[in-house]
Amino acid sequence: MKKTLAVLTVTLLSFIGLHAQTAKPAADTKMKTFVDVLMKKMTLDEKIGQLNLPGSDDIVTGQAGNSNVGKKVIEGKVGGLFNIKGVAKIRDMQKQAVEKSRLKIPLIFGMDVIHGYQTVFPIPLGLSCSWDMKAIERSAQIAAQEASADGICWTFSPMVDIARDPRWGRIAEGSGEDPYLGSAIAKAMVKGYQGNDYSTGKTIMSCVKHYALYGAAEAGRDYNTTDMSRYRMYNEYLPPYKAAVEAGAGSMMASFNEVDGIPATGNKWLQTDVLRKQWGFKGFVVTDYTGINEMIAHGMGDLQAVSALALKAGIDMDMVGEGFLLTLKKSLQEGKVTLAEIDQACRRVLEAKYKLGLFEDPYRYCNENRSKTEVFTAANRQEAREIATKTFVLLRNNGNLLPLKKTGTIALVGPLANNTENMPGTWSVAADFKTPISVLDGLKNAVGSSATILYAKGSNLDADSVFEVRASMFGKSFGRDNRPESEIINEALQVAAKADVIVAAVGESAEMSGECASRSNIDIPETQKNLLKALVATGKPVVVLLFAGRPMTLKWESEHIPAILNVWFGGTEAGNAIADVLFGDVNPSGKLSTTFPQNIGQVPIFYNHKNTGRPLEEGKWFEKFRSNYMDVSNEPLYPFGFGLSYTNFTYGDLKLGANTLTAGKKIMATIDVTNSGSKDGEEVVQLYIRDVVGSVTRPVKELKGFQKIMLKAGETKTVTFSIGVDDLKFYNYDLKYVAEPGEFQVMVGGNSKDVKEQTFTLK
Ligand code: BGC
Repeated sequence: MKKTLAVLTVTLLSFIGLHAQTAKPAADTKMKTFVDVLMKKMTLDEKIGQLNLPGSDDIVTGQAGNSNVGKKVIEGKVGGLFNIKGVAKIRDMQKQAVEKSRLKIPLIFGMDVIHGYQTVFPIPLGLSCSWDMKAIERSAQIAAQEASADGICWTFSPMVDIARDPRWGRIAEGSGEDPYLGSAIAKAMVKGYQGNDYSTGKTIMSCVKHYALYGAAEAGRDYNTTDMSRYRMYNEYLPPYKAAVEAGAGSMMASFNEVDGIPATGNKWLQTDVLRKQWGFKGFVVTDYTGINEMIAHGMGDLQAVSALALKAGIDMDMVGEGFLLTLKKSLQEGKVTLAEIDQACRRVLEAKYKLGLFEDPYRYCNENRSKTEVFTAANRQEAREIATKTFVLLRNNGNLLPLKKTGTIALVGPLANNTENMPGTWSVAADFKTPISVLDGLKNAVGSSATILYAKGSNLDADSVFEVRASMFGKSFGRDNRPESEIINEALQVAAKADVIVAAVGESAEMSGECASRSNIDIPETQKNLLKALVATGKPVVVLLFAGRPMTLKWESEHIPAILNVWFGGTEAGNAIADVLFGDVNPSGKLSTTFPQNIGQVPIFYNHKNTGRPLEEGKWFEKFRSNYMDVSNEPLYPFGFGLSYTNFTYGDLKLGANTLTAGKKIMATIDVTNSGSKDGEEVVQLYIRDVVGSVTRPVKELKGFQKIMLKAGETKTVTFSIGVDDLKFYNYDLKYVAEPGEFQVMVGGNSKDVKEQTFTLK
């Protein structure tokens, strides 16, 4: 045993200092040689072992070797582990691999570090509403720094699934409905996690998910079938995955759903032809949780058949299900898979470990000191607070009710007002739920003794206690109040009677969105609405702080509540960040990354739709034999890109530098944006383009650029967008990426509806 270690160590040492992510050919060659040497020593079982990614629930600190999974590690049957938290446990497990397994191959440790590690940032849907790529990148960078300090070198993030159906709970985990914004965010996240080199020990490898089309689940029901044309796929759903690959993402996760009738996990066209041959992806692909086994229920065969299908499709690592571990050897003997296929997958997993520097130092991410000093620091929390303020979207502010003054008496009510556990939102695996700042604490911190904050719960999360259990899983409880609804509301009304203004923290719990949290009704739960109605009836000004993991239907609220601030789930510092915006220390600047429907029947509704042959004229409602509804207009409640500020922005006329565009040239689109209000503020200036005539039908508009600018009160800035031929390209019927000559409309504005227009011609 010792001898093997020594030999391997010498081999390893000779490759020190190679960071292959931004690999130069020489580094690539060294990595290849290193892996070649190692693989020559590996038995078939050891190779298959590298493809196995079990969960790790049964580990007790110091007992790794005795755990079930630890025994498998020692036998060389494990390539990596996920969701173990804590550097001591991880070191202990790594020790089993590099001291007790035959070939001492280190393990890769993954985790769902989705929107922060222990310092939690807003949910991804919220982050996307910042339209601030630096802030988003920074959130991923801090997450990577904390995770890498605590033993983790691989994150199952970013999720880049385009989602246009708010019934789907996982819309919370992505960046909304738009491929352009989604692609920009995908890149920012990958860069944040990986930096320029993910072997530094402070960066981690990203895993882009869920490849592909998971966000298009039929009827918004999780894990449901997806089916769409290749044309839509290439133009609207695939771009963010491609962008993440181009940004150098080290790994990808296959999605649960089917694509073109074949589950993504077994879909060779998707995993090999598109991902590797068309996009040039060089990393490895892991399944989602039991993704291989689930192909049995999809109707693709027994465990042996589906495992072979996955390997042949291009899957390299099997999360949890152990289909590879249990069947690949037999499949090889029976000629159902080839050794070359197993070798290829094994090589890709080993290469990832190499790129992470784990062969150089298997404990690179196990620095107990860093784990004590670099996780959940005051500085990280401060950044989380600042970033959270950028994600809130001011939906309404009648009569400039907001910002509130830090004087008088404020009644804070609602089931989300005095709750810490729900502030981090869904997918905050590493969070300590005792630490987040509640709204009540945030408001108290902000006002000190200058104002009085009174609190009453006002309502349960939901009248139905069974629903409330489903909606408060994973330790995110609300403490059920079993009194009758009227009694709970009356208590709030008594508090409200003493106040100058009412702030209602209502909406969804954290677990009402996220995985397997689809809803067929996306209203604020009725019992909370009853509370709001009673509060409005007092005649006092009411501010709604809307907690949500998805676009919600807010028709009544938008007609009756003067101020609505959508705060999503703001993370560790949610309460403080909310207070920052509520009292105007920070001017809100978030803009929606999804369309908010008027009612659930409009879903799916998104801004970049097609025109149809019978479009309804804008601003109209019903016209017989037009594409519309009898009972609701086609308009969204709040359009994509929308969000108010405490100041006003006025747009001048849009000017184009030329009327025609030719190859190699650019057209400059310029517009003056003025802060015509009395407060400094940030505005997201958005550029949309419409391709008026195409060889296939084209959307009514598509986001093609945006700039977030800061304007002092009274200040005007000229914003310039440069439009080139590449900005006009799309995948045509033959899936060729082309720009077609003809007329184009250019639109610029502060949201997707209110825009200034010009046209030009592409020659
Ligand atoms: C989810 C993934 C996640 C994985 C590991 C699955 O159920 O779909 O997004 O990364 O679990 O926790």
